[in-house]
Amino acid sequence: IADETEAFVARQPRSRALGSRAGHLAGGVTSNWQITEPQAVWISHGAGSKVYDVDGCEYADFHGGYGVSLAGHAHPAVVAAVRGRVARGTHFAQPTEDAIVVADDLADRFDQPLWRFANSGTEATMDAVHLMRAATGRDRILKVEGCYHGHHDSVEVSVLPEPDDPIGPPERPTGVPDNTGIPAAIMDLVTVVPFNDVDAVERALLEQGDEVAGMILEPIMMNAGIIHPDEGYLAELRDVLHRHGALLAFDEVKTGLTVGPGGVSRALGVTPDLVCLAKAMGGGLPTAAIGGSEAVMSLIADGRYEQVGTFNGNPLGMAAARAMLTEVLTPAAYEHLERLRDRLETGLQDVIDRHGLPWRVVTAGAKGCVSFLAEPIRDFRGFLRLDDRYGHAHWLVQHNRGVFLPPWGKVEQWLLSVQHTDEDVDRLVVNCDHLASRLV
Ligand code: PLP
Repeated sequence: IADETEAFVARQPRSRALGSRAGHLAGGVTSNWQITEPQAVWISHGAGSKVYDVDGCEYADFHGGYGVSLAGHAHPAVVAAVRGRVARGTHFAQPTEDAIVVADDLADRFDQPLWRFANSGTEATMDAVHLMRAATGRDRILKVEGCYHGHHDSVEVSVLPEPDDPIGPPERPTGVPDNTGIPAAIMDLVTVVPFNDVDAVERALLEQGDEVAGMILEPIMMNAGIIHPDEGYLAELRDVLHRHGALLAFDEVKTGLTVGPGGVSRALGVTPDLVCLAKAMGGGLPTAAIGGSEAVMSLIADGRYEQVGTFNGNPLGMAAARAMLTEVLTPAAYEHLERLRDRLETGLQDVIDRHGLPWRVVTAGAKGCVSFLAEPIRDFRGFLRLDDRYGHAHWLVQHNRGVFLPPWGKVEQWLLSVQHTDEDVDRLVVNCDHLASRLV
C-alpha cells in the first residue's frame, strides 16, 4: 500500500500545512484517537452525507465522528433547532423546556422512567458506575473484556489488551490497565469477565457476590468490531445479577439510537437497571443521558447521589436532542437506514464471496464492519484472532477514493446516516472491490 500512502499525502497539502502550524496542539490533534497516519486530516465542513477536508476533497462520511452523525451533517431540523436556541442564550445552569421533551421521548423509547443528562459517554458511564455503587453500598464492578466505556478509572481496564499482555485464561480474564494514570488500587475493585458467558459471571458472583455493585457492558460489543450477544444472554445476565443483589447497566453510547429507535434494550426486550446514551443523541453536540429504574434513579432525585455538572442539560444540546428525537429519528428514517444497511451488507458480502476472501460482514442497524475472519466471533478472545493486516489498507484505499471510514480497521465500525444515499453505499462497495482485487 505504499502507493496508496503516497497518494494520500499528495492529495492533502493544506492538511499537511495546518499540521505543521499545530505545534501548540499536543500531538497535533485534539484527541489521541484522531487520524494521524499517514498525517492528520483537517476538516473544512460537512453537508448531508458528505464531509470535505481543507484540500477540497469530498468524502461520503461513514466515520460519522465515531458514531455520532446519525443525522448526517447540518441536518435542516438540527440546524433550525440550534439556530433558534443560540440567539436566545446558550447556558443558564437551569433547565429549559426541551429537557422535558427529551426525557419524555427517551423514557418511551427505552422503557426507563427517570433520566438525567451529561455531556459525554464517559460522564454517563461514570455516573452509572457510581450509581450502582451508591445503590448497593458495594464497591466492586464487573466489566467485560473488550468493552469500552470511556476514560474514567473504573472502566479503563481490559479494553484492548494485547495477546502478550498478562490477560489470563479466556473464561477468567486477568484485568489489565488500559491506560497510564490508572491507580493500581482500582484494579482491585474491577473483575473482568468474558462476553457471552453467564457462567463466568455467576462464578464471579459466587466468589465475590457480596462485594459486587453491578455489571456494565455494551449489550452489542462495538469496540472490538461488532459482537452480538447470544440469544438469551442479556436476560440471563440480568437475572443472575439480581439474584446476587447486583445491578445491570447497559452502555448504549454507541448502540443507543443507531441499532434501532430504543437501542438494544428495546430490540432484544431486556430492560437493564441503568442505560447510558451519548454520541448520536445530540445530533453532533456533546450531549449524553443516563436513564434508569425508579429504584436506582431515586438516589439522584432525593440527593443521596449527587449527579451534577455545570453543563448538564445544556440548552443547545437539549434543543439538538429534541430535534433528533422528534423530527429526525422517525420510523421512516429507520426504514431508510435498514434499506441502506441491507444494500451495503449484500454488496460487500458479494465482493468478499467473489474474491474468496476469509472475511465476513457484520451489521447492527446503521452500524457495521468488515470482520477480517470468516467465522463469527463471540467474545474478545475471538476478536484477537482477526487478521490485523487489512484494516489500515482498507481504510486508506477507501479514503483515497472518497469514503471516510473510522481508522482502527478491525476495532471500529461504519455509521450510516439518514442522509446517506444508494450512491454513497455503492462507492464504499466499489472501493472494497478494488482492494480485494489487489489482494487476490
Ligand atoms: N461508551 C462507549 C460504548 C463508547 O464507544 C464510547 C466512546 O467511543 C464511550 C462510552 C465514551 O464516550 P465519550 O467519548 O463521549 O466520552
